[in-house]
Formats: sequence, C-alpha cells, structure tokens
Amino acid sequence: MVKTPIDLQNKLFYHPDKLIEFFKTGNTTPVTWELDPTNRCNHNCIGCYAAGAGGRTNDDSLNWDQAKNYVDQVYDLGAKAINLTGGGDPMVNKITPRLIEYIRSLGMDVGMITNGTIFTDKSIDIVVKNCTWVRVSMDGGTPHVYTSIRKVPERHFYLALKNLEKLAKRRDELGTNLTVGSGFLTSELTTPTLVQYAELCKKAGIDYIQVRPFHGDYTIPYNIEETLALQDDNFKVYYSKNKYDKGYKKQYPKCLAQTLSGVINVHSVYLCCHFRGIETKKLGDLREKNLLEIWAGRRRQNILEELNLDKCIAHCRLDLVNRQLDELVNYPSEHKNFI
Ligand code: SF4
Ligand code: SF4
Repeated sequence: MVKTPIDLQNKLFYHPDKLIEFFKTGNTTPVTWELDPTNRCNHNCIGCYAAGAGGRTNDDSLNWDQAKNYVDQVYDLGAKAINLTGGGDPMVNKITPRLIEYIRSLGMDVGMITNGTIFTDKSIDIVVKNCTWVRVSMDGGTPHVYTSIRKVPERHFYLALKNLEKLAKRRDELGTNLTVGSGFLTSELTTPTLVQYAELCKKAGIDYIQVRPFHGDYTIPYNIEETLALQDDNFKVYYSKNKYDKGYKKQYPKCLAQTLSGVINVHSVYLCCHFRGIETKKLGDLREKNLLEIWAGRRRQNILEELNLDKCIAHCRLDLVNRQLDELVNYPSEHKNFI
C-alpha cells in the first residue's frame, strides 16, 4: 500500500495498535519522534526551516546522558522510529553517531535529515549500518545557488555531493538497506538549477530526490517534467505536487495527526515540527517532567483545544495524515462490516 517514503497517510495502517488505542481513547503515543540533538548548525540558510519555526532561538545541545535518557523515554512510550533532525544540524553534535547506534540497538528505526557536510568515513559507516534512511538537504544545483541560499563557502556544495556519493557507495559495499535521498526546495532562485541538481544526484548513485516548495512559494517548477523524466529503476523523483496548491484550506476540524508524531527539540517537547521553539506551543521541558507526564498532561490538552488550524501552515508536514484520520473519524463508512 505504501508507495513512496513520502506517502505518510498510508503508513497509518501499519500501526493498528496505535490506531485502536486512538479510536478507543482519543489519544495514543507517537509511532515516530523527531529528536533534535542540537540547535546549532554550520550553515545559515535563508529561510532556515528550523529558525523560521523558532527552533534555533538558542544554542542548546544534548549531552550523552540527556540524549540517552530521552531516547529511553521515547522507547518506553512504544515508539517505532526516531528521526534525527533540527533544530540545527544533527551532525554538529558529536554524540549523534553514537546515538544512532544506541537507537538501533533498542530495535527502533532511525532516519536523519542533515546538510551532509559534517560526515567522516567513520560516521558514514555508522549511518550506513544503522539508519533506514538519510536525507541531505541541498536546495541548489550549482555552487553559486547553493551558497546564495546557505551562506557557506562553495566547497560545501561539493562536500554535500561527495558525501551523498560516499553514502550510496558504502551502502552498496556493505550491502545494507539504507535509502539515500536528497531534498530540494523550489523557488525563483533555486528552480532554474533543479534539473542540474537532479542529474548530479543521479550520478552520485543516490536513490531519490524530494522536490517541494519553500513555504509560501506556490510556483510550480517549470522544469518538473524534465526532472521527472530522469527517473529510472534506481533513481526516483518524489514530487510533492499537493504542496503547490495555493488555494488549499484545511477542511478537518482538529489536528489528530500530532498524536502519532512527536517532536523533541533538544530538551523541549512541541506540538508539531512547525512550532519548534514557539513558547505557546511548547508542551513541556524534559528537564522538569518526564515524557509521559508531558504527553498526558493538561497543558497539551489545553494547547490542542485552543489550536486554530487557520493559523497553521496549509500544507504542513502532517496534513495528509490529518486528512486520512479525518476521513476515518468523522466520515465513517456505512455498513463498515461488509467488506
Ligand atoms: S542546514 Fe537546516 S538547520 Fe542548518 S541553517 Fe540550513 S535549514 Fe537551518
Ligand atoms: S501545523 Fe499541521 S501538524 Fe502542526 S498543529 Fe497544525 S495541523 Fe497539526
């Protein structure tokens, strides 16, 4: 049923235990947690996703004991996977490779989103042996555009590409199942380099690129068909077409999807990834309460009750999951016992 890694809505049905609990009680605990090991980053992107959300308002990082403790709590709440992301760049925190091994040793899946410029041969091997997927954000098909967005020297462009190539090569050498991908945000500045970027990624031997817009830019990339035509059995282009629908408005009355996908930005737990660093959407601080207390706490319920979905990003990360859950909860099938 799941066709691509970005078809989030179909993945729901692989977690019947969580769905049953959710239908019975109106609540459950996340299948996946995003965990930010640090708010620091070696890049300084225009429109930094994390900074835009408020998630880089401080330089906090986790030490080993804190990170292990938070991962243990996530595991105890029945999570199946952790996505290491930001915040800042996960690889800026030196404990991240060890954390990847630790998460995997507990039997949870690990994924990571990174700018891909801080890898060593040793950390690449740890990623290759332990992660389900890694995605390197690039947003530019030439050094000039890349550096215009990221405000770093041009050598970072080549470094990110080289590391993508190394990840794919080591994956093949070690025979693991790591999926290696790269992300590209389209805009007036970046779109002219989209095809070039896709060709470079394909040449690097990675599995896919993901194409979606910078928040608030709905211009359909004029060269998307040319980019899609580069696909073959080994290289895919995941084009988030729905995110270019400018007129889209959420039709569902509540955000149910946040129940299945949690966010820990260093020490703080937030309602969803788009509210990282936003004090009014902070569910709690793990230095003050444990994760279960925060998750089951009154503050989370109050925030959910007061949430105005008109103020949320229209095409938020969990929008398709929300649409699916809304169908199931608010529009149940008639004669549901006749299949
Ligand atoms: S790499 Fe990510 S966290 Fe770092 S500045 Fe860019 S968008 Fe922000
Ligand atoms: S942005 Fe999306 S996931 Fe976040 S609270 Fe709003 S509807 Fe839910």
